Amino acid sequence: MQTIRGFRDILPEHIALWQKVEKVAIDLFEAFGFKEIRIPVLEKTQLFARSIGEATDIVEKEMYTFADRKGDKLTLRPEATASIVRSYIQHKMYATDPVRKFFMTGPMFRRERPQKGRYRQFYQIDAEVFGVESGFIDSQLIYLLNELFKRLGLTGLSAHINSLGCPKCRPSFQKALLEFLELKKDKLCDNCLRRIDKNPLRILDCKGQDCHAAIKDAPATLDYLCNDCSEHFDLVKTTLEEQGVDFIVDKTLVRGLDYYTRTAWEILTDSLGAQSAVAGGGRYDGLVKELGGPDTPAIGFAIGFDRLVEVMEQISQNPSDSGLDLFIISIGDIAMKKGYLWSCELNQAGISTEIDYRGKSLKALMKRANKFNARYVLIVGETEINQNAAVLRNMNTKDQDSIDIDTLIPELIKIFK
Ligand code: AMP
Repeated sequence: MQTIRGFRDILPEHIALWQKVEKVAIDLFEAFGFKEIRIPVLEKTQLFARSIGEATDIVEKEMYTFADRKGDKLTLRPEATASIVRSYIQHKMYATDPVRKFFMTGPMFRRERPQKGRYRQFYQIDAEVFGVESGFIDSQLIYLLNELFKRLGLTGLSAHINSLGCPKCRPSFQKALLEFLELKKDKLCDNCLRRIDKNPLRILDCKGQDCHAAIKDAPATLDYLCNDCSEHFDLVKTTLEEQGVDFIVDKTLVRGLDYYTRTAWEILTDSLGAQSAVAGGGRYDGLVKELGGPDTPAIGFAIGFDRLVEVMEQISQNPSDSGLDLFIISIGDIAMKKGYLWSCELNQAGISTEIDYRGKSLKALMKRANKFNARYVLIVGETEINQNAAVLRNMNTKDQDSIDIDTLIPELIKIFK
């Protein structure tokens, strides 16, 4: 049996970096006032179709959607924002305090063409803020991402930012875009032609080479912003400048989901080839209302966890296995029972301890202790039981001491604490 295409195991030898990233991220989120939220991996299909947009790649081609036994249409979540908005509304969180900050980590599912850095089950670290319209929060999220990557020792990243405008300025942009696309119709792929009427903004996101060339000089949302959106974007930019966060204003950045308004951004890396985006985010001021909640501004980002780890693997060694505190070598049945009981007691006290139950020779077990990178080895056989003393060997210095079995546990705890 093998994993499904695009799905993979993350094996224990790779986990240290995942855990390191998660720890650094959680510490940072908590310092910035974010609270963890956990949401289901399965939701009603309609939630994603309505929020991400019917005419997006994700909804049209990439979702894992199926009917359950009762015929309800369900989808494995392709992203987190829609579910978190659903949760915000379902639990009426806005009623007690509309301003909320959440983070989460977990798997997402998209049926894309798998390649390095692109999987069908991938992981995201996600942050969302509800109830704040001010551009300061846009800057803060980009600043936070910058700080996270700095703490993880990443270089070679660039933040691309854009403003996608709001429902007030969209119509004039859309008009200009449609006029432009009308002239390029013969150069667009079938998919884009189909989207002209449904969702022309998505054409700006087409990855096809011909479309890409055809839309090179397409109108940009940035040139059609209303005064409010302009001022909002100016505040984001000047704040980032003041905070020393480098960014590039990228008029062509549109993101692949429909719900974005105003500030949108991506963090790109130069070290992952084609899959260069390690994080993306933006404002979605209309989505809470669209999904049935009160009119609430909101903004968030998602980091591609798999890609982030891949970038880190290129620059750093996987943090080495910190090894084991104690390996117990028990020879004979009585010693084995004692060794087992001690190992449980020590594990319970927070001391990493291993024991081998297979009745191997002392030589084989010393080898095994080395394999575990054990700091100490405790040897107990029939002789030791008779003398009521076990032998403790420091694997670094090779010094050996005899420890009274009656006081063994407190003695060991003293050594390791
Ligand atoms: P998105 O929700 O599409 O903005 O994605 C946010 C981030 O998730 C991207 O910048 C990528 O780093 C990561 N990501 C998206 N799709 C995949 C995928 N199929 N495999 C791995 N990472 C992904």
